[in-house]
Amino acid sequence: MARDARYDILFEPVPIGPVTAPNRFYQVPHCNGMGYRDPSGMVELRRVKAEGGWGVICTEQAEIHHTSEITPFIEIRLWDDRDLPPLVAMCEAVHEHGALAGIELAYNGMNGPNFYTREIPLGPSHMPIITFTNDPVQARAMDREDIRNLRRWHRNAALRAKKAGFDIVYVYAAHGFGAPQHFLSRRFNQRDDEYGGSLENRARLLRELVEDTKDAVGDRCGIAVRISMDEMLGDAGLHREEVEDVIGLMAELPDLWDLTLSGWDNDSRTSRFAEEGAQQPFVANVKAITPKPVVGVGRFTSPDAMAAMVRKGVLDLIGAARPSIADPFLPRKIDEGRVEEIRECIGCNICISGDMTMSPIRCTQNPTMGEEWRRGWHPERIPGKGSDSRVLVVGAGPAGLEAARALGKRGYAVTLAEAGQQPGGRVSRESNLPGLAAWARVRDYRLQQLNDLPNVEVFYDSALNADQVLEFGFEHVAVATGATWRRDGIARFHQRAIPIADGIRVLTPDDLMDRARPAGPIVLYDDDHFYMGSVLAELLIDSGCPVTLVTPAAEVANWAQNTLEQAAIQRRLLERGVRIMPHRAVTSIQAGGVETACVFTGRTEALACKGVVLVTARLPEDGLYLELKARRDDWPAAGILSVRAIGDAFAPGLIAAAVYAGHRYARDLDAEIPIDEPPFRRELAELVSG
Ligand code: ADP
Ligand code: SF4
Repeated sequence: MARDARYDILFEPVPIGPVTAPNRFYQVPHCNGMGYRDPSGMVELRRVKAEGGWGVICTEQAEIHHTSEITPFIEIRLWDDRDLPPLVAMCEAVHEHGALAGIELAYNGMNGPNFYTREIPLGPSHMPIITFTNDPVQARAMDREDIRNLRRWHRNAALRAKKAGFDIVYVYAAHGFGAPQHFLSRRFNQRDDEYGGSLENRARLLRELVEDTKDAVGDRCGIAVRISMDEMLGDAGLHREEVEDVIGLMAELPDLWDLTLSGWDNDSRTSRFAEEGAQQPFVANVKAITPKPVVGVGRFTSPDAMAAMVRKGVLDLIGAARPSIADPFLPRKIDEGRVEEIRECIGCNICISGDMTMSPIRCTQNPTMGEEWRRGWHPERIPGKGSDSRVLVVGAGPAGLEAARALGKRGYAVTLAEAGQQPGGRVSRESNLPGLAAWARVRDYRLQQLNDLPNVEVFYDSALNADQVLEFGFEHVAVATGATWRRDGIARFHQRAIPIADGIRVLTPDDLMDRARPAGPIVLYDDDHFYMGSVLAELLIDSGCPVTLVTPAAEVANWAQNTLEQAAIQRRLLERGVRIMPHRAVTSIQAGGVETACVFTGRTEALACKGVVLVTARLPEDGLYLELKARRDDWPAAGILSVRAIGDAFAPGLIAAAVYAGHRYARDLDAEIPIDEPPFRRELAELVSG
């Protein structure tokens, strides 16, 4: 199909200094948890996005010198020429598809502990470093010689980047990560020399680095500055007006301004906390200050919102990290008039949890993300079927929907049977909870795809039992029947059931999603530690029910540190009046209240309440699977070759894990998959002799 003329504006070329972006789709730098450890994985991930039509593809942070590294996070490095081969490969791969390659040169200074190199971190002032984990390391105030050294290291890295083939070279002053930002910020810069005090002085290092980079590589490379418009700390931190003044001081110096918020948690807010395009108020004035092109992000997945940003004169280039992760082919789909096929990011930040846990990136919507090289999975192409087998998928949650979609794309005849009247399973249920509406996109994308697949039939109101499955006689059966929240309190703290007095009915997340609304006050016991406990606390308090959230952890939604949401979650609950009791476990439940115990001392305390919600572990709904397995002797007569449980029915986990399981099932059907060795390629460090 032809492209809708409304979106033509997105396909205009944009000059960036001596280079020209072929269109306005700009994959801004984003980490991926692969970096120097999985270099070919990083290269293939970037290549696929260039193939998908992004006009500019950037690296993650590239650590430019061994005096600044952010162990244990895994990024790329540019310490000497031996770091070049994967970067050369990335540039070649990106150029192969007509895109520009950008590199984010990063000197993290007081944001890196240097645990690997054991060098003393450098910063504007003598200060503890500002990593996520309060590492017991202080940065040393840089003297003039240190500054001269840093300028040389940055220049050398720029020259290496040019040698590798990059078209755009960044000076990184954003997210609280880049040293030039530490110099800009009055919080960290307490110097009284020409690099401290006035804004002009605090901006001096940034200016010098931009001038050096231009001088070194500006003949062939566009020079970009990535800067944070606001630290969201009010007067205590950098704020928009001040950063606009910084941009004004050097408006024409770089070839591109890349605008973000700081810290990273403010920039990459989840859909629970920010809408598409939420950064607009922070970036709206910048084009009036500089004649140079401006790129900004906002979790843009709608081509109308993107085109509006350009038309309104807010942005020249549409920056995207997460939308390009969820759909590496987003630009191509717009170009080819296939807008409804866009796999929209749901804004859950599971991708970011890859970096935060030092593991290869994964994505809830895009199960091929991070698997491009090691498994050879492509987001848009999948091998044809390996046989004429017919496949029954039981359950239309994320696992079942993705299995049916991917099997359908492979050409299998698929029947998807769902017990309920609606598709989507847990994503349909959870997307009704406060702040999670965008999660329905996991269902909606797959339904849209199934509509176009005549070889996939979907039946609702079809709760299947083992007799029926055996009667139907499909060759392959995938049981994707989901999971149920436990009612006995077993999770991490308690491995045995919590004593519950007779006649007391505790509630679970399933009950609340089924619209049970208890009369308060409620004790919500959260031993799950991700989003569910806090979302239900919001739901209850918003419906007028006072909530005390009891958790054995030190903070609410502890794992949400990895999705950059923890602080926002705790702030929201406190602001709404949820009482939080950390470091405590519910140890028994009686009429009128619970007993809690301190996780350190065991000291108990009674807590009065009218109801209890347990957010603990889940159990797989695997009755059908287990019965079918037990009746293996009946399979030959029924023509069944395999029965597998996938997703939450196999082991309850993240939605991302269920989608991945469905996809993997479809890819692996009729294939010989080794189980004694890893089912993917990996790269091993080479031994250096001598
Ligand atoms: P997952 O996350 O693994 O996809 P979900 O809990 O989201 O799991 O979805 C499971 C789906 O399976 C639900 O929509 C549920 O109604 C459906 N289901 C459960 N048991 C059966 C069954 N016996 N027959 C058909 N559908 C079922
Ligand atoms: Fe978007 Fe979630 Fe995928 Fe990240 S993991 S790209 S936030 S859908």
